[in-house]
Amino acid sequence: MQKELTPFEEEMQEILLKKRQDILEKLAKSNEDFQALASQMGAKDSIDMSVESLVFKKMEAMNQHEASVLRSVDYAIIRIREGRYGICPKCGCRIPEERLRAIPYAVLCISCKNQEEAGK
Ligand SMILES: [Zn+2]
Repeated sequence: MQKELTPFEEEMQEILLKKRQDILEKLAKSNEDFQALASQMGAKDSIDMSVESLVFKKMEAMNQHEASVLRSVDYAIIRIREGRYGICPKCGCRIPEERLRAIPYAVLCISCKNQEEAGK
């Protein structure tokens, strides 16, 4: 599953891994329960959302915003590794680099994102 990354993907992966670390540390500082969950997640070398989804659920119950960013960050990292980073899963279009640089963990393109938000 591992493939050659483009320099852009490598750069984004580095930013995302750093962001992931920052969020885990921040959450760990915020309370003891998070500390346990964060170390559970941080200890793993591989990022696997299905395995961690229970942990995510617990985190989301406690701190929705940070946990949802963390989930998006992990999802973006997985997509880089699958070679699908920057491709909108809804419409299949390529998300512009500027958008990804502004929000490295953006999953949807702007029009799909807007539609999703309008649908809520
Ligand atoms: Zn789209």
